[in-house]
Order: sequence, then structure tokens, then C-alpha cells
Amino acid sequence: MAGSLEAKLETVADWIAAARHVVVFTGAGVSTESGIPDFRGPGGIWSRYSPITYQEFIADPEARRESWRRSRESYSQFAAAQPNAAHLAIAELERLGKLECVITQNVDNLHQRAGNTRVIELHGNSQWVVCLECGKRYPRAEIQAWLERGVEMPACEQCGGILKSATVAFGQAMPERETTEAETYSRACDVFIVVGSSLVVYPAAYMPRYAKQSGARVVLVNASETDFDHRADAIFHERAGEVLPRLVDMVRARLPALPEGPPAA
Ligand code: NAD
Repeated sequence: MAGSLEAKLETVADWIAAARHVVVFTGAGVSTESGIPDFRGPGGIWSRYSPITYQEFIADPEARRESWRRSRESYSQFAAAQPNAAHLAIAELERLGKLECVITQNVDNLHQRAGNTRVIELHGNSQWVVCLECGKRYPRAEIQAWLERGVEMPACEQCGGILKSATVAFGQAMPERETTEAETYSRACDVFIVVGSSLVVYPAAYMPRYAKQSGARVVLVNASETDFDHRADAIFHERAGEVLPRLVDMVRARLPALPEGPPAA
């Protein structure tokens, strides 16, 4: 779609206002403006570290030690991050009754903190740590205290099993229920908005493809190009925190005013 940024935003706002089912699909790029680096953008995590696979984590104590060392280092950055203007705009879309759900590849919990109540997490949530033997869950903050006390490879207090962040590592199986739900919502929507994803991590990156196959309009808001650009109905190579608030303002202006809350007692 050609035209000025303003004109393109107006068109997409028309689509959203008229849509029955809107889905937002997010990747690490929605959180860079909150200070959490992405994987593949400039300065992304893979420019500093190579990934540790699930199989390496399980089989090799050195890999486990290294994984926890990285996690201990990056924890304060994650813990301090606040939802940014893009997260807040996506939450506002739900409040306006124009969002079916957010499907996220992110593990940072920022959509929930921004106010979204229907969030499908494809890759888990880094607020939790889980025992791979008995399933006991620990708040990540508690494990940070252990790491800072000098524990290098935390083990389960209950059974001694290996503890791992409740996130999906490379080589680890996807959560079945979330993956099925995400596919169902992607296939049933009429507008599908990708925000901040390079769309190279599968099976998550199938979601916009399912939406497109099912006849939805697909909108991309991503700072850099993706392999999916040629199939998108509208593309914004812009920062999410700049584009989404403007888009949501335009959607709000097209909707009947929401009823006022009850008067204060
Ligand atoms: P990615 O790193 O592969 O791609 C991020 C994309 O976002 C890039 O194309 C980049 O150009 C774009 N981008 C960066 N800042 C942006 C901004 N302000 N506005 C718009 N676009 C912006 O991320 P991915 O596709 O999500 O895949 C990486 C995997 O790693 C996913 O599983 C992801 O969830 C996980 N991850 C999560 C976090 C997090 O939870 N915040 C952080 C890093 C990686």
C-alpha cells in the first residue's frame, strides 16, 4: 500500500474499526522501547551471545551454568522494564472492544502489565522458573536471590531436579494448548497485526501465514524488512511506540464513545 504514513494509518484504522476479530501478534521488537534488547535487531542479544539449546541445557552442566550466568546478568534489565507506548496502545485496543487477543512470542509479561487480559504466550514467561522433574514452580525473583548468594546451577528444593526458566528454549517443544489456540485465533480473525517480529522463528511465524490464508488483512509494524513484507496488506517500517498510539487514536475516533463509568459514591 503506497501513500503517506498518515493516509496509511487512516486506512488501517478503517479496517480495524470495521473488523469483527482483530488479533495482535508481537515479538521482541515491541519491547525494545522498554529497554529489553531483541534477538536480531542491531545490538540484539545474538550479536553478543550464541543461543544455548534445550538439549545442551539438559545434558551439559557447563551450558547450564553459562545459561544461569547470563540470566543473572540480564535479570535487572528485565525486572526494571515497564510497558511502553506500544504495549499501552495494544491494551487500549482491548479496552475499546477491538481486540480478540494478543499472541506473543515475548516472555517479559509486559502485555499483561499494560492491561491486556487475553494474552497467549507462545514461548512462556520469564517471571517463573520450573523444575523439569516434578514441575514445582518458583518466582524468578526468588531464584535471583539464590544466584546472588553464589548458587551457580539452581536445583529444585523439593526433588533436586534441574530448574529452568519457564520459557521455551531453542529445541524445546512448544506449549500445545497455546499453540493450538494461537492458530485458531489467527485463522478466525479478519485483521492480523504483527508488531516487532522478524518472523523467522517457527512455528510462531506461521501465525500471520494462517491469517493470510484464511482471508485476513495482515498489517506489519516492524522497524526492518521481513520475508513476509510482500504478502502484507499494509507495512509500517517504523517504531512501534510511535505508530501504534496514533493508530489506536484513529480507531477510537471511529467508534461510538464508551459509556462513562458509574458516578463516584
Ligand atoms: P527478533 O529479535 O527476531 O526480531 C525483532 C524485530 O523487531 C526485528 O525485525 C527488529 O527490526 C524489530 N524491531 C526492533 N525494535 C522495534 C521497534 N521499536 N518497533 C518496531 N520494530 C522493532 O524477535 P522475534 O521475532 O520476537 O523472535 C525472537 C525470539 O526471542 C522470540 O521467541 C522472542 O519472543 C524471544 N525474545 C523475547 C524477548 C522479550 O520477551 N522481550 C526479547 C528477546 C527475544
